[in-house]
Amino acid sequence: MRTPFVAGNWKMNKTIAEARALVSEMAPELQEIRGVEKVLCPPFTALFAVSSLLIGTDIGLGAQDMYWEEKGAFTGQVSPLMVRELCRYVIIGHSERRAYFGETDASVNRKVAAAQAFDLIPIVCVGETLSEYESGQTAEVVARQVREGLKGLPAEFGSRIVIAYEPVWAIGTGKASSGENANAVVRDIIRPALAELFDPQTAQATRVLYGGSVTAANAAEFFQQPEIDGALVGGASLKAGEFVAIVKAAAG
Ligand code: PEP
Repeated sequence: MRTPFVAGNWKMNKTIAEARALVSEMAPELQEIRGVEKVLCPPFTALFAVSSLLIGTDIGLGAQDMYWEEKGAFTGQVSPLMVRELCRYVIIGHSERRAYFGETDASVNRKVAAAQAFDLIPIVCVGETLSEYESGQTAEVVARQVREGLKGLPAEFGSRIVIAYEPVWAIGTGKASSGENANAVVRDIIRPALAELFDPQTAQATRVLYGGSVTAANAAEFFQQPEIDGALVGGASLKAGEFVAIVKAAAG
C-alpha cells in the first residue's frame, strides 16, 4: 500500500509574516486529516518560522531546491546539510528550475544523490513541455528524466523517493491534464522506467504524484486513478481552504 502524499509548493511567495499567517490558518485543519502524508514547501526565508509552527504536528516541511555540496564557496546556494536541519523533504528538478535556472537531468541526479546522503526525501519532478507533448515525445522525455535523474541509486532509496509527474503545459495554466492521461503516463512510462532502473517491487512501492493546476474542484479526479498517489500543488496551496480540501480529497 502506498500512503497518499500531498505537498504544497509555495514557489516564490509569502514573506515570513504571511507564511506564519497561512500556516496558522491551515495547520489545525490539516492536523485533523489522517492517512495522508502532508508537506508544506515555503521559500527558504520562511522555513525556520514555519518549522517552529509545525513542531508537534504531523505536517512535514520541505525546501523547494538545494545544492548538492555540503558546504563551501558556493555563493547563494543552500546545502543539503542546512536543509536537513529544518526539513525532511526537498523538491528537486521542478520544471521552473529546469526552464529558468539551468537545471538538467545531471544536476537533478547529483541533488537526488545528496538527498540520499543527508537522509532527505526528494520529491523529484518530471514532465514534458507543451511542444514535446504536441510532437508526441512525452514517453521519451519523461522516461529519460526518470532514468537520468535517478540513476546510480540503490533500490532501498528508490522506494523512498517521491516522483511528481508535472506536464509543463499544465503548471500554473489552469489547464490540468485529465486524470486518465496522467494515470496512463504513470502506468506506461514512469513505473516501467522505475522497474528498469530498480526492480518491479520498487516501481510499485514508489509514490508518484500528479502536479499541474490541481484545485479542490479537480483533485478527486486524480486521486481516484489507481496509479496516482497524491499531488504536488502550486497555486492552490497558497489558499488555506483550497489546500485543506485537496488533502481531504486525498484521504478519500
Ligand atoms: C507546481 O508548482 O508544482 C504546480 C503544479 O503548480 P500549479 O498547481 O500552480 O499548476
